[in-house]
Amino acid sequence: MGKKIYIDHNATTPVHPEVLSSMLPYFKEFYGNPSSIHSFGQETRKAIEDSREKVAKLLGAESSEIIFTSCGTESNNHAIKGTAFALQNRGNHIITSKIEHHAVIEVCEYLSKKFGFEITYIPVDKHGIIDPEDVKKAITDKTILISIMHINNEIGTIQPIEELGKIAQEKQIVFHTDAVQSGGKIQIDVKKLGVSLLSLSGHKFYAPKGAGILYIKKGLKIHSLLHGGSHEKNRRAGTENVPYIVGIAKALELSYKDMSKESKRLLQLREKLEKGIVEKIEYVQINGHPSKRIFNTSNISFDFIEGEGLLLSLDLEGIAASTGSACTSGTLEPSHVLSAMGVSVTNSQGSIRFSLGHQNTEEDIDKLLDVLPKIVSRLRSMSPLWEDKQKGVKTQFEDPKKYH
Ligand code: PLP
Repeated sequence: MGKKIYIDHNATTPVHPEVLSSMLPYFKEFYGNPSSIHSFGQETRKAIEDSREKVAKLLGAESSEIIFTSCGTESNNHAIKGTAFALQNRGNHIITSKIEHHAVIEVCEYLSKKFGFEITYIPVDKHGIIDPEDVKKAITDKTILISIMHINNEIGTIQPIEELGKIAQEKQIVFHTDAVQSGGKIQIDVKKLGVSLLSLSGHKFYAPKGAGILYIKKGLKIHSLLHGGSHEKNRRAGTENVPYIVGIAKALELSYKDMSKESKRLLQLREKLEKGIVEKIEYVQINGHPSKRIFNTSNISFDFIEGEGLLLSLDLEGIAASTGSACTSGTLEPSHVLSAMGVSVTNSQGSIRFSLGHQNTEEDIDKLLDVLPKIVSRLRSMSPLWEDKQKGVKTQFEDPKKYH
């Protein structure tokens, strides 16, 4: 089969060797509990505080504004539930978008169903971008929180966070952004973005899975998720995961080192990939904004086939990518992101997300461009819809209303 090719970096990334080396001493050599006052504890306490300082500097924040969490999901839960419960006396309205990750949408649903919060889901245009005017219009005197993601995980679109930050500041509303897909890919400056809360997840930028960061703006008092000891200045109880904290800080630092070179390299690879696919395969459509899109992500709909079949065939060739659709209890749910953009269910089901990262090379793209047209053509040859198309029968791709 040859070299296995991984083009699924928005799902997760491997741990960078330098990140791993930075962590290893904290498993064996430096194992003191950071809350202990003896020297063993002081060593690990210092490692945590140095990491906090490092992360704060990279995000344009103060160290007291950074807490370490267990993942992006925890950071989002902490930010949203923490704000909702802290400010419920002031109002019960939360604004978010239709294309958020489940780690935001499900939190809002929970607050709505169990605690009566009102949620407004802002729509997106056909490119998957939010109009700040829609957010402005949705604000009421009961609005206590706006939570809009920075970069979408499925299609890579970049939302106008700075503009939204200005609106939130003007109206004095807490503004959270799920920056899990931007962390380590682009520079983040919390002040420039105008956010009060920002979530990051280490495993998206070459730190281990199970390490997260939450920025909480100075002065903002939100409730904690975990209660117990006074760790993280009473904001997150639980003995700190020292090796992972060291690792996530190191990974963020490393990502800034070669960010501009790496982003140009990956953009070139993605352009080669998209150009090649459009040239070699008919009936394809690239989802997401042509330019307001992160350099590593490409979401492509292949008409007349199912994404799952395509993925499995790619996997047999040693190529790993991802679909936008989630397979829930045996039923194939179309992606809520593509649906919000107005992509038809059939097109959405034939969509694949390629997300590039450090390991990818031109040869990977060449291999993909070699095998993909053959797979698509084989799968289409088995599709009754494709057969109809060849016979000139109108299919749902030309007449979407007929089938929905
Ligand atoms: N938010 C976004 C946009 C994501 O892409 C992900 C992970 O895929 C998460 C949140 C959840 O992060 P974690 O896997 O660290 O819980």
